Amino acid sequence: MTPEVRPLVAGNWKMNGLRASLGEIVATRAGVENGEAGVAEVALCPPATLIAPAASALAGGPVALGGQDCHPRTSGAFTGEISAEMLKDAGASYVIVGHSERRAGFGETDATVQAKAEAALRAGLTAIVCVGETQSQRDAGEALVVVSAQTRGSLPEGATAETLVVAYEPVWAIGTGRTPTPEEVAEMHQAVRLLLGERLGEAGARVRILYGGSVKPANARELLGLPNVDGALVGGASLKAAEFLAITGAYR
Ligand code: PEP
Repeated sequence: MTPEVRPLVAGNWKMNGLRASLGEIVATRAGVENGEAGVAEVALCPPATLIAPAASALAGGPVALGGQDCHPRTSGAFTGEISAEMLKDAGASYVIVGHSERRAGFGETDATVQAKAEAALRAGLTAIVCVGETQSQRDAGEALVVVSAQTRGSLPEGATAETLVVAYEPVWAIGTGRTPTPEEVAEMHQAVRLLLGERLGEAGARVRILYGGSVKPANARELLGLPNVDGALVGGASLKAAEFLAITGAYR
């Protein structure tokens, strides 16, 4: 944890969730209101179809909402796409950009991710910029180089400590049940912290750096207690309120 920084635990539902799942969002709100997240800020990023009903369910409460992706442009002839302004209008305050599933599955480059992050800032959203190495890159000893290059290339211009969050998510740890060692996580988060300082100056010390990749109630306390780990981006374990709240409980 970084002193003076309020940690963030964000849930990424990916392409999961129907209106019937809104009960999990309501239960997450109730748990946070009951103090289960301690000092942490909590956000949920459901699929775009649920942002508006989730915003109604969360109105006036402590749980924030985020989108999972956005288009760089405000509006236009981009069939099937959703702009940052639309997410904001629907009730989001965060948007994830550059998730490895989008980088790998949809050909997103660092430049694309940077443009999306800048769109988020333009719309008044906080961008959660994801970076992370593959298994083969780690095996080749390239993890630090790869993540540093991704971070440099993906960070938006004009960010502040309030409008930017970075999520370090080793690709090989996402949805696999495997996690890096505490030393590996701390090493990478320190490297990202240095890059944030280069880019943002003093504010770089206050940008939240999340760890993501198979965070569960059983490993949350250890991972979230590491230096420069200011919260978590949680996939599978965010779908059920009880499991997600148990992770946020690391901050109680
Ligand atoms: C993610 O997709 O951002 C993620 C961290 O997934 P999981 O927690 O399921 O590994």
